[in-house]
Amino acid sequence: MKEQFDPASRIQDMLQFDEFGGVNPAITDSATYTFLDAETMTETFLGHTEGCFLYSRHWNPSNKFLADAIAAMEDTQSAWVTASGMSAITCSILQLCKAGDHIITSVTTYGGTFAFLKNYLPKFNIEVSFVDITDLDSVKGEIRPNTRLIYTESITNPLLQVSDIPSLASIARNRGIILMVDNTFTPMMITPARLGADIVVYSLTKFINGKNDCVAGAICGSLDFVNSLSNVNDGTAMLMGPVLDPMRSSSILKNLHTLHIRMKQHSSNAMYIASELKKLGLAVRYPGLPDHPQYTLLNTILNKEYGYGGMITLELESLALANEFMRMMQMEGVGYLAVSLGYFKTLFSNSGKSTSSEVPKELQRKMGLTEGLVRFSIGLDNNINRSMEKMKECMRKLNII
Ligand code: PLP
Repeated sequence: MKEQFDPASRIQDMLQFDEFGGVNPAITDSATYTFLDAETMTETFLGHTEGCFLYSRHWNPSNKFLADAIAAMEDTQSAWVTASGMSAITCSILQLCKAGDHIITSVTTYGGTFAFLKNYLPKFNIEVSFVDITDLDSVKGEIRPNTRLIYTESITNPLLQVSDIPSLASIARNRGIILMVDNTFTPMMITPARLGADIVVYSLTKFINGKNDCVAGAICGSLDFVNSLSNVNDGTAMLMGPVLDPMRSSSILKNLHTLHIRMKQHSSNAMYIASELKKLGLAVRYPGLPDHPQYTLLNTILNKEYGYGGMITLELESLALANEFMRMMQMEGVGYLAVSLGYFKTLFSNSGKSTSSEVPKELQRKMGLTEGLVRFSIGLDNNINRSMEKMKECMRKLNII
C-alpha cells in the first residue's frame, strides 16, 4: 500500500540543533557576516558558494532553519521566509511576472491579495482575470498566449471553496503556466506541491505560528525559484527586502513543531461547531460537512489525519444582526471579535466589512459573499461543547434560533 505523506513526521525527522548542542537552533543575531578573505566574499555575492552567509536580508541562519523545516513539510526542494504573508505573495508574483503577462486568479482570495492583483499589478501592465476557481472550464477559457500564472488558495478566503489543485496543475502544466497556491488555511491538511502546484505560499501569521504574536510568510518551491528570489541582481525578495527577523523565525520554528496537534484540535472543534450549527438549521459552510459542494473533492486531496480545518462561515440575515451576534459572543467569552485566524482562541469577523472589504460590494454580491456572513476561526478550546452552549445562548437572545 502507498504510504501516506506525513508532513509532521517530515518536520520531526529534521535534525536541527545549535553548534553547542542546544536542542533549539541558536538565534543568529547578526545583520552581517565576516569572511576570512575578500575573494570568498566576492564569490558569495556571485552566488558561487554553498553555506556562506553574507548579509541577513539575503539569508540568515535562523531563517534558513525555519525555511528548511517548511520546505520539508511541503515536500519542496527549498523555501524562503518573509516578513509577512503578503510579501511572500507579492514577491513570488513579481518574480514570475513581467509587463505584458497575464494572471488567472480565483475571485475569492484574501482581500489583500485581491487588492494587489486588481489595483496594484495594472501599474506594471500585468493583466489579471478573476474566475470562479471551481469552474475549470472558465479557468481554461481565460488562458491566453501570455498567461504566466494561475493563482488560487487551497481553501479560499472567505467562501471556503476548495481548489481542485490536481486538475488546475494539469491545466497549467499542459500550457506551460505556473500554478501558485496559498495554503494558509490548510497547512498539513493539504500539501499542494505533492498535488502538482509549482509554488506554495503562506501567511505564517496564521495556523503555522498559531500565537498571533507576529506577522510572517513563506514561499516554497524549487531551488532555482528560491535562488532567483534571493539573487543579488534581480531577486525580488532580495531587492524589495521583506526580511523576517531571526528572533521571530526562531519562535515560529518552535511553534511549527506543535502544528500537527493544533491542526487536529482546530479541525475536530470546527467539525463539532459546524455540525451543531447545521442541526439548528442555520446557513453554515464547512468543508467537512457532506453537503459542502467540494466535500468529495476535498477528501481526495487531504492528508487524512488532520481533519477539515478550523474555518467555518455562518450566514446571518443582515449585517446588523451579524455585528450584534459577534459583540455578544465576545462578551460571553466564545472568542474575540478580531480579524485573522489560526489562533488558539476562536476569532470571528464579518468578512465583507473587514478582510474582504477591498472587494467591491457589487462583486462581493456576485461571488456570494453576503453582508451578514460571519467567518469563524475555531480555537483550541478543551471543552468545545461549553463554547457551543455559549454561542447558542447568544443566538437565543437574538432570536436566531
Ligand atoms: N493569505 C491568506 C489566505 C490570508 O488570510 C492572509 C491574511 O489574512 C494573507 C495571505 C496575508 O498574510 P499576512 O497578513 O501575514 O501578510
